[in-house]
Amino acid sequence: MRRLKMIRIAVSVLFLVASILYAVVGSPAVASLAADVQISLSLMSVSIGVTLFWVVATFFLGRVYCSSVCPLGTLIDGIIRLTRPGRARRSFAYRHARRFRFDVVLIYAVGIVFGIGVTTIMLEPWQVFRNLVGVWYPSQGEAIALHLGVGTVTGLICGIVSLLTIVITAYLRGRMWCNEICPIGICLSAVASRSQMRIEIDPDKCINCMKCEEGCKSECIKVVSRYVDNSRCVRCFSCISSCPNDAIRYQSGRNRVSTPMMKRVDSLS
Ligand code: SF4
Ligand code: SF4
Ligand code: SF4
Repeated sequence: MRRLKMIRIAVSVLFLVASILYAVVGSPAVASLAADVQISLSLMSVSIGVTLFWVVATFFLGRVYCSSVCPLGTLIDGIIRLTRPGRARRSFAYRHARRFRFDVVLIYAVGIVFGIGVTTIMLEPWQVFRNLVGVWYPSQGEAIALHLGVGTVTGLICGIVSLLTIVITAYLRGRMWCNEICPIGICLSAVASRSQMRIEIDPDKCINCMKCEEGCKSECIKVVSRYVDNSRCVRCFSCISSCPNDAIRYQSGRNRVSTPMMKRVDSLS
């Protein structure tokens, strides 16, 4: 099970490299595959098959799209590694999900319906990824801006704002962008909350070392309650590889909340 993390990293790096190639040099056959499987592009081209595939995959496996296929997610992971070296990368803690996350989805939907290019360029993960590429390759940034009809100056400003927002949120809160700002991630989280394969803590094996919670960049593990919020989990599998006792697993179905600790306290009194 510890190999899951290595496999996930290998796949995500492949998709990131292919996506960068696609964004920078156009559409050579292999690189365009990375674009063909992106949810945002499928929605924009009204080719619903790709989106449906990822909804079904999320229902069974959780947010594997966010762990391995979306290039922006992989870039955010890279920024977390760069900005939080050593111990700092293991200093996350559980936080409650923002109460009403679907406000972003509403703004995004209104932007699409009324053709407001700025909301698309600032919120849609594929466009935000291309904004970041555009900061280094201004000609690509201009191409996106023209395509969305927002003007090159606005496009450049959006690119810089995207870069700053991504870097600051990654530094402060890990995958906060993916769980509180990205409309695609927020929609997937609604499906992932009921996913069949889940990250679960085995209450009988957990020794409260906190390694999983401190290393969870989605801030979705609460060791004290033996709880993992699978809607926000981006299936990075870091928790599994860091657990010293094989107590947190990727498995089918839920573990029941345990009460043995309470019983133990009772027996001492
Ligand atoms: S939440 Fe959005 S930005 Fe993050 S990995 Fe998923 S699709 Fe990409
Ligand atoms: S619970 Fe956190 S650390 Fe574990 S796979 Fe999900 S996001 Fe990664
Ligand atoms: S890393 Fe494993 S043993 Fe440590 S708190 Fe998490 S589940 Fe428990």
